[in-house]
Amino acid sequence: MKHDAIAWKKKREYSPEEFAIADLILAEIIAGKAIQPALRAHPLPAGRGFLAKHALVAAYYQGVAKGDLMAAPELLARIRMKPIRTLSGVATITVLTKPAPCPGECIFCPTEENMPQSYLSDEPGARRGVENNFDPYRQVASRLKGLHEVGHPTDKIELLILGGSWTAYPKDYQEWFVRRCLEAMNEENPEDNAPEGGLLGVQIRNTMAQHRNVGMVIETRPDLVNREELVFYRKLGVTKLQIGVQSLDDSILVLNKRGHTVQEMVAAIQMIRLAGFKIVAHWMPNLLGATPQSDRLDYARLWRDGSVQPDELKIYPCQLLKQAELYEYWKRGEYKPYTEDELTDLLADIKPTTPRYCRINRVIRDIPSNHVVEGNRNTSLRQDLAARMQAKGQKCQCIRCREVRSKDMDVETLEMHDLVYDTGQTVEHFISFDTATDELAGFLRLSLPKANNPLAIAELDSAAMIREVHVFGQSLEIGADIKGAAQHLGLGKKLIEQASLISLQAGFTHLAVISAIGTREYYRKRGFTEGELYMQKALA
Ligand code: SF4
Ligand SMILES: [Zn+2]
Repeated sequence: MKHDAIAWKKKREYSPEEFAIADLILAEIIAGKAIQPALRAHPLPAGRGFLAKHALVAAYYQGVAKGDLMAAPELLARIRMKPIRTLSGVATITVLTKPAPCPGECIFCPTEENMPQSYLSDEPGARRGVENNFDPYRQVASRLKGLHEVGHPTDKIELLILGGSWTAYPKDYQEWFVRRCLEAMNEENPEDNAPEGGLLGVQIRNTMAQHRNVGMVIETRPDLVNREELVFYRKLGVTKLQIGVQSLDDSILVLNKRGHTVQEMVAAIQMIRLAGFKIVAHWMPNLLGATPQSDRLDYARLWRDGSVQPDELKIYPCQLLKQAELYEYWKRGEYKPYTEDELTDLLADIKPTTPRYCRINRVIRDIPSNHVVEGNRNTSLRQDLAARMQAKGQKCQCIRCREVRSKDMDVETLEMHDLVYDTGQTVEHFISFDTATDELAGFLRLSLPKANNPLAIAELDSAAMIREVHVFGQSLEIGADIKGAAQHLGLGKKLIEQASLISLQAGFTHLAVISAIGTREYYRKRGFTEGELYMQKALA
């Protein structure tokens, strides 16, 4: 692990020799040479390949700081990688909380010393946490710097907080952690002094900061969620919850020592949805006691009316790891992982049955394959799966598979659709803009609570709830403009108008929205005002 971390860090630090080469290359580029030939003309010594573009960017900044180079934004734009298309329009920053035990005892969950429960120190998502000693400020600041170096827009940031069960950490740690992440985005208070205005002050400053927090995700266990926790998450600015569902079969939950029932889990999910949060479920095939056939049935249970019906899904096939208790079962011959072929077949069967309102974020967890004792080691399963589905003439219609990819879209050809489904406690409207070729240009999730909201949050009385507005296209720097990018076609506004109309017709007097800190300004401009936990507007 240590070596990996050091090697990775090295990638972002440059030796004097590399800077010298970068200076030569920069001089040639300034003189008019094209980037690639200039890079290739100056290979690194000892067959180490060629200098990366981010080294050129670093050399540029160093040159400007020393006064050796004139600041030249066009030059910088040329040497930076061409902007990476973030189809979701937002850059995600993953941060890891400090090592702490989790109240859960799930037999499949890896435990590593000095790591938060369920994370391995050499998992890609966990590495920056380890390197920065789990310091939230340093994790965010270093990631912002990295994104900037490769020319990635950083004005809209989704914060993904990982590490065991968030709710199991003390409240003051949760608050401190979120505050420090936001302070790093605000580029303030590196010394961690008492902030002006407390957490609220930091949040207010972020609404107009250069790096705005447009989404905040935490992960927790369903049995730890209750009304008080949900209100607290809202105060922190959380907009999305990742919840371990794992299985919808009580006998499998018991066998795997999950510690809660299906009913408890579904009740928690319903409450989370009523409070407006977006729901990312983790579902785990190949648990102890499951078969490919029972997993097929289990997947169908996810989507039944009144069941989990997640907005996003991470399929994490159970992986056999030495660091988990399940390993002992395997040694005794009581557990057998599916082969890669069995798993691919299973996934190819179930993926096309996913409703169009859901986004499948992952089909496998990105655990380094050397940890996997037996079973599938292929972490690029997604591509193989796509090929297998294509061969069978099947297609996944989830959000991720339909996100618009064309750069120029003619707004006139977009069609609005409304997919309505029943979750038991709410009627959901998934309102979308689709292209003529069935690509998804944008969508809005509207929740209409059926009865008086049992959460008893006064602000939500008689209110319909917008849980998400998402318009795809290139992530643009604030103020930048690229013709045709979906974010600039006013799709969000049209979706909100439609949601208002539907809510009004259904008898609601108010429309609430679960806004992230950095999207409040957007909703303010569309007539919403700030309540304590949500933004609201009266429906005329
Ligand atoms: S609840 Fe999550 S983190 Fe805790 S033991 Fe179970 S799987 Fe691991
Ligand atoms: Zn899909």
